[in-house]
Amino acid sequence: MKIMKFGGTSVGRPERMHQVKDLITRGDEPKIVVLSALSGTTNALVGIGEALAAADRSLAKLRIEELHSHYLAFYPELLKTTEAREKAEAIIQEHFEFLNILLKISFNEAINRDILAQGELLSTKLFQTLLEELNIPSVFLVALDFMSIDENSEPELSKIAEKLTAILAQHPGERIFVTQGYICKNHRNEVDNLKRGGSDYTASLIAAAIQATACEIWTDIDGMHNNDPRVVDRTRPIAEMSFDEAAELAYFGAKILHPASIWPAQQFNVPVKLLNTMEPEAHGTLIKEKVETTGVKAIAAKDGITAIKIKSTRMLLAYGFLRKVFEIFEKYKTPIDMITTSEVAVSVTIDDLSHLSQILEELNQFGTVEVDQNQTIICIVGNLVSETKGVLKSVMDALLPYPVRMVSYGGSRHNVSVLLDSTYKKAALQSLNEGVFSWEN
Ligand code: ASP
Ligand code: MG
Repeated sequence: MKIMKFGGTSVGRPERMHQVKDLITRGDEPKIVVLSALSGTTNALVGIGEALAAADRSLAKLRIEELHSHYLAFYPELLKTTEAREKAEAIIQEHFEFLNILLKISFNEAINRDILAQGELLSTKLFQTLLEELNIPSVFLVALDFMSIDENSEPELSKIAEKLTAILAQHPGERIFVTQGYICKNHRNEVDNLKRGGSDYTASLIAAAIQATACEIWTDIDGMHNNDPRVVDRTRPIAEMSFDEAAELAYFGAKILHPASIWPAQQFNVPVKLLNTMEPEAHGTLIKEKVETTGVKAIAAKDGITAIKIKSTRMLLAYGFLRKVFEIFEKYKTPIDMITTSEVAVSVTIDDLSHLSQILEELNQFGTVEVDQNQTIICIVGNLVSETKGVLKSVMDALLPYPVRMVSYGGSRHNVSVLLDSTYKKAALQSLNEGVFSWEN
């Protein structure tokens, strides 16, 4: 059994939903189809929640009406028969009635998460209606019956596996199952979600739970690119990469795959394929345990980074200094991305600035503290250490014209990271694109 996950743009228009139907009906292998909400819907739902949180009911009402008309225009183009159209109308009616009821009751966070769940419920129900209209046998699964997270918002993989296996066992011989990405239940049994972009995570968790043969992530680009195609000219899709390489890349802004979706597939060794709905025959990117290729595979960048340098003569020959520094970041629940050290100073980067002033105040007790904002981490990923020589030279040669603020190499065998001011990002990425891939292989 394999998993096929389709993102918001792949189901965002009636004709695209028809393409999804074509893709899932190819081949005999049984599949679980995971869908996101139609593109734009989750953002609209966030907007409705925000208006309600601000007690602006008329704005919330307006936003609900806007979204409602989007769906009322969508379904007649999706479906042909009166029967199917009536069914879709009833589905839409039900979900928008629910949203309208929320206008009358007092708002809280649990209700907000209920609002956010409407998008995936609508997209999957409309898709299921399309399959029914076309007499394509399929089973509709409600993700809330098997997807769950614990009190730390971590997915409960073994519970998910147990529940899902039991549900699937009730449908022997069925080949197509349709379910929602993103949504789940939390430890209080309330509706919750896996955070924005979480449908990939759902797909990977389901793949791990049933030890699927493959987890296919279908989007509208042809796989993971070796560099950011929005910033750099002449990028190309990466044919294959290891889970470790993909994890480094996904974290550093390669938006195509939600970062958390790597570990479940990796743990159960389920290959992940990134495929393009617009070009289904294209190879895309295959992510698996072991790959033979060495050298630099990809480059990704992350903006909005702040570098903090703590300089202290007390660090000289002292032990425990780094712990004290890190404890301050831990206290304010602020993750550190990059670290470099010298004998008397340590530089770290963060991207969550919500506690910056408190952190700086506490760091001041250790020595002089300098802060640089608007920095970019450029992360060069591949099979780098030991098998290959000259990686650092090619990276540094490409970066020669730009002032590099930090370099981190050797933390893993898959990554060299450099930090520079964001104004140099585009030029540096382009220069790396020309410079570091040329000697590959
Ligand atoms: N619909 C959700 C979002 O827009 C989940 C997803 O699409 O992955 O974030
Ligand atoms: Mg996505």
